[in-house]
Amino acid sequence: MVQRMNVKPTVLKLGGSVITDKKKPLTPDLQAIERLADEISRAKVSSLILVHGGGSFGHPVAERHDIAGGYVDPSQILGFSETHLAMTLLNSWVMEALISHNIPAVEVHPSSCAITKAGRIVKMELKPLKKMLKMGFVPVLYGDAVLDSEKGFAILSGDQLVSSLAIKLGADRIIMGADVDGLYTADPKTDSSAQLIDHITLEELKSLKHKIEGSKATDVTGGMLGKMLEVKLAIEHEIQTVIVNATKSRRVYKALKGKKVIGTIIEKGEAVE
Ligand code: ADP
Repeated sequence: MVQRMNVKPTVLKLGGSVITDKKKPLTPDLQAIERLADEISRAKVSSLILVHGGGSFGHPVAERHDIAGGYVDPSQILGFSETHLAMTLLNSWVMEALISHNIPAVEVHPSSCAITKAGRIVKMELKPLKKMLKMGFVPVLYGDAVLDSEKGFAILSGDQLVSSLAIKLGADRIIMGADVDGLYTADPKTDSSAQLIDHITLEELKSLKHKIEGSKATDVTGGMLGKMLEVKLAIEHEIQTVIVNATKSRRVYKALKGKKVIGTIIEKGEAVE
């Protein structure tokens, strides 16, 4: 039996804005999903965990029922089910593309194995996931509606899953696939003077934080600011993080291969005086 004991996993996130049409409800971007499955397959990473966002699947449904606000009304129970269902529908498109490109992907539903407390993961069953990695499977998780010990339920973002899994599974790097080239000095979609930051340390990131604005798109889990707050936790554990534009071809492939690529590298490092 093939065992991949000592290989540190790579965690790859595919943003909801990348794999769906965020303006049209429940609309996958099948071309992007196919292309990314091809890039992931060709990169042949020896230990990989994939996490994807919700885009136009999870977010509008979760928002309609205020799942992120927690349980206040019995009518939300069905809303929770609908949110999870929407995410499994998107996940099915991703799974089908991955498996048809010969990637041994297996979905791991966060609502079935994670519990949050006030929106933060406090319990997560990782044994099946670790075993999958050892055997060479590619576990696939996604932002999901989950049960919460304080609020009844909550939205567990793909971004929180990325940093939490990277830390708990001892990943050596995180690749965040976004719909922009990386981290900018301001939102590049609304500010034409925004500059791409190609390399940044944790200290520099902290001082820049107040300038970074949240995403304007409907997104209950926040935009780039939310992403940075999550990856900060992994970077504190020496896990190098790179943000690349996954809507552009070959960027994810190059990042997976460890090649030079347009994007933002964030490292713990020392602040430059
Ligand atoms: P996803 O749903 O794909 O995970 P989001 O839409 O939540 O991603 O967040 C990414 C978005 O954040 C970008 O498309 C961009 O418009 C916005 N954003 C806001 N501030 C910045 C910034 N400083 N640098 C880059 N992107 C930013």
